[in-house]
Amino acid sequence: MYRVLEILRNTTDYVSGENIGKMLGVTRASVWKHIRQLRNEGYQITSVTNKGYLLTENDILSENIISSALTTKDMGRNTHFFLETDSTNTQLKLLGSKNAPHGTLVIAESMTHGRGRLGRVWQSPKFTGLWFSLLLRPNIPPQNASVITLLAGIAVSRGIEKVTHVKTDIKWPNDILLNGKKICGILTEMDCEMDKTNFVILGIGVNVNTKIFPDDLSDIATSIFIETGVIYSRLDLLNSILNELEIVYSKFIAKSSGFSSFARSYQSMCINIGRNLQVIGTMSDNSFTGVGVGITEDGGLLVKRDSDGCTVVVTAGEVSIRNT
Ligand code: ADP
Repeated sequence: MYRVLEILRNTTDYVSGENIGKMLGVTRASVWKHIRQLRNEGYQITSVTNKGYLLTENDILSENIISSALTTKDMGRNTHFFLETDSTNTQLKLLGSKNAPHGTLVIAESMTHGRGRLGRVWQSPKFTGLWFSLLLRPNIPPQNASVITLLAGIAVSRGIEKVTHVKTDIKWPNDILLNGKKICGILTEMDCEMDKTNFVILGIGVNVNTKIFPDDLSDIATSIFIETGVIYSRLDLLNSILNELEIVYSKFIAKSSGFSSFARSYQSMCINIGRNLQVIGTMSDNSFTGVGVGITEDGGLLVKRDSDGCTVVVTAGEVSIRNT
């Protein structure tokens, strides 16, 4: 079935059932069966008598389409596209350990095992969003590389704004919210030695044109479409996000000042500032409530603790925003 889809994806004109059958060495009846299955899966395929079939979906992702649309220097120059995969981070990790170059992109139409932090599930149904991972090879010690996840938040937020003109917020450390609900999650994974970063994998999931979320997510998740009523081209958004990532990342690498030159921008985008927060530490005795007051030069979240008025730096753990 997916071989029929590949043929349709790679042509801009109608292809007859007979020709598809010849290319795949199957009968016209079997081509028709596959077309029906693809339509059941949600692909929009037009058929015209004596002409054949045409994929009319206008937001198709494929290796060729992505490569020719990108205007970046490194990011996504080497692209691996999957109609379906377990997790783009998992696939990219394999490529990373086989010397794939900096900027390698793995992108999928859908993921069966999309992951969030701490083994949580990231829902990534087909056609609705951008599910991708980028390979970065920063020549810096691992402890300095951890802020890349914060830089990605800045870049994604800017990339979305350039295309849609909507302002998103960053929830520390790296969820992107639109009108208080999550439109993007970022999962950063690293492969490193004591003093050397082998590679960083930046996994990014953006809910672009999702129309409806399952009950367990509808209170916390949203999409650009739900908030704006506009269907956006995923390709345009991908290109914009990758360009912003390239800008932010190259500034970060060029300067030796680490995160400090980004801290002010990050703080201005950070929704935790001025809000009542619940901090759930990695150990039960470091959970507390307080108010977000700033971002440190290292990317930590400054929280004024309710119990004693002291300002503490949160560098790990969970932070939720309280509505009180
Ligand atoms: P957080 O750190 O905010 O808890 P993660 O970045 O680990 O979240 O992402 C996983 C969580 O995100 C899940 O537990 C679920 O609540 C939520 N989630 C899963 N899929 C989506 C999605 N497509 N859009 C928004 N939120 C999602």
